[in-house]
Amino acid sequence: MDQWWIKAKVINRQMLTDTIIELTIETYQEVKVVPGQSALFLLEDDQWTFERYYSIVDQDTDNERTMLIFAIKLSTNGRGTTAIKNIHIGNEVMIKWIFGNFILQDTQLPKVFIWTGIGIVPLINMAKYCMTEKQLFFSVSTQQDLFYEERIKKIHGLGYEIHISQESIPWYAPWRIDITKTYFDPATEFYVCWKPEIIDNIIENLTFLWFKRIYSEKF
Ligand SMILES: Cc1cc2nc3c(=O)[nH]c(=O)nc-3n(C[C@H](O)[C@H](O)[C@H](O)COP(=O)(O)OP(=O)(O)OC[C@H]3O[C@@H](n4cnc5c(N)ncnc54)[C@H](O)[C@@H]3O)c2cc1C
Repeated sequence: MDQWWIKAKVINRQMLTDTIIELTIETYQEVKVVPGQSALFLLEDDQWTFERYYSIVDQDTDNERTMLIFAIKLSTNGRGTTAIKNIHIGNEVMIKWIFGNFILQDTQLPKVFIWTGIGIVPLINMAKYCMTEKQLFFSVSTQQDLFYEERIKKIHGLGYEIHISQESIPWYAPWRIDITKTYFDPATEFYVCWKPEIIDNIIENLTFLWFKRIYSEKF
């Protein structure tokens, strides 16, 4: 194992929905995070060790300790999923890089964050630390799938629209996100994250509307 690995301890573990687990880890090693970045976890199953990227929901540092929060979607039969399910409070975890180019741009331009499901993770971190005009569109299928609503509401200065696409629930927007119906400043930066097919569709719509500053991550 090389010198880059960061040793951390799990200090909190909770289910956000039936299929999304949140892990909070703490480390006494130096860690620098740019909003939007991910950490490469070293995981283990009964066969061998392997690696998976997970984006950082939030980070907090005092003089000697850094806390990092992750939210992970549990899939059926996923290898990472099986390993993550076996991680409990008090366990040690190893992370390699804090890494990624999908980061909040250091500009004064207005920013729009668009996510569905677990794609929220890098974007909620960017939205929190973004100091310019900011708007957020979040979509899940049913109310049961909704998570981080309180986190969204607490982000200072954030305009947001939460969609529940398969149910009609008062207060929430119905159907999927349709960015073609909202006016945005032509200089707006768009940050989009989630499944390739969903991202491709959103990028296609934004490009059709002549927006040029589109940043995306697919996972
Ligand atoms: C930069 C980056 C950031 C990321 N951030 C996050 C994040 O914040 N949160 C998050 O949840 N994910 C994130 N991901 C995705 C994550 O790294 C994993 O790829 C994802 O969680 C699936 O990993 P897994 O090991 O559970 O599934 P894998 O074992 O890789 O399997 C992939 C898919 O195949 C299916 N599958 C596997 N075996 C079988 C089988 N035998 N039969 C049928 N289907 C099967 C699984 O259900 C799964 O959907 C990120 C990825 C990248 C690249």
